[in-house]
Amino acid sequence: MNASLYPHGTVYGYKNLGCRCAACTEAHRIYLRDARYARYARRVLVDGVWVAPVAADRHGLAYTYNTWGCRCDRCKSAANAERRRLAQQRAERQRVARGSR
Ligand SMILES: [Zn+2]
Ligand SMILES: [Zn+2]
Repeated sequence: MNASLYPHGTVYGYKNLGCRCAACTEAHRIYLRDARYARYARRVLVDGVWVAPVAADRHGLAYTYNTWGCRCDRCKSAANAERRRLAQQRAERQRVARGSR
């Protein structure tokens, strides 16, 4: 499809045609946000903790923590470990950048 012939501001344009105009980017952003809300709405409260309704082997992942908002112990510690890993990576990059000067 010719990109100039379809209505912009659509997720279709962003995803399938790779259009990154402001309207399509915004549509995609809203789509992701809504999808996240929909996932969050499916969480269940277990002993005062929001837990994602996913298979047991999907817990203990930073992904589940971030995309589902799962706050079970395993996902929380995975997210913590992931944050530490990223912080370390960032520190390492800065160290290397300083060293190369
Ligand atoms: Zn567009
Ligand atoms: Zn979890």
